[in-house]
Amino acid sequence: MGRVNSKACVVTGAGSGIGKAIAERLAEEGGKVLCVDLNGDTAAAVAEGIQNAGGMATAVAADVSDRVQVDAFIAQCVAEYGQIDVLVNNAGVNIPGVFHEVPDAVIDKTLNVNVKGPMYGCRAAIPHMLKSGKGSIVNISSVNGLVSEPFLAVYSASKGAVVMLTRGIALDYAKQGIRCNAICPGWVDTPINYAHAEMLGGLQKVYDSIDSFQPIGRPGEPREIAHLALFLASDEASFLTGSIIAADGGMTAQ
Ligand code: ADP
Repeated sequence: MGRVNSKACVVTGAGSGIGKAIAERLAEEGGKVLCVDLNGDTAAAVAEGIQNAGGMATAVAADVSDRVQVDAFIAQCVAEYGQIDVLVNNAGVNIPGVFHEVPDAVIDKTLNVNVKGPMYGCRAAIPHMLKSGKGSIVNISSVNGLVSEPFLAVYSASKGAVVMLTRGIALDYAKQGIRCNAICPGWVDTPINYAHAEMLGGLQKVYDSIDSFQPIGRPGEPREIAHLALFLASDEASFLTGSIIAADGGMTAQ
């Protein structure tokens, strides 16, 4: 018996990095996973990898900032797997910049993908979870939802919104069997951080100085975030809702 055996799961941004690791980890523990990504090829490759390893997965290309597409992939999960038990809102963008020079398009894109995306996902999934009387939503925020860093004001604002969306949904549905929690990853080695690393002098420079901001002294690995997402998705986390959990190698302990 897997830890999320037979649970119908949707993971957004499943084509890469943390989302990929979460999709794989859920499938390893018996979850039926719909892998959603803007990039349909990477989502399909992740689903194929899961199938080859004996797990159950399907892929769909979709943009989480488009309400119609979000409604469609939630409906697809219910049609294919009979239910939606777990929603992992992981898809995100991080476009760093000097704040007073940030173009409208960057503000809009960041808020549309990082904030409206999870809102649309939750809004579409919750009616199905209410019908079954259970569900677990896992929002991937960031340490930047708790503390900011140079060049990340817009990204940090979006991830702070994810923290409060998580708390709000947790309160609204606490008595109806739907749990909603957020993970705030520290610096994890995934492409979403590469543009920020460039602005800080390059990835090597960031990693050479990682001790100064991430006490554990190394970048996190996507799988280390996925273990926590699996726990929150599973019934083992039955008493957790509205929790905002930093998985950050000690970054926010400073
Ligand atoms: P992380 O591992 O930290 O989530 P990555 O950059 O490795 O960061 O992965 C983010 C994933 O989210 C990518 O696969 C990317 O294609 C996906 N993504 C980005 N924007 C959207 C969007 N609007 N809709 C769906 N997926 C998206």
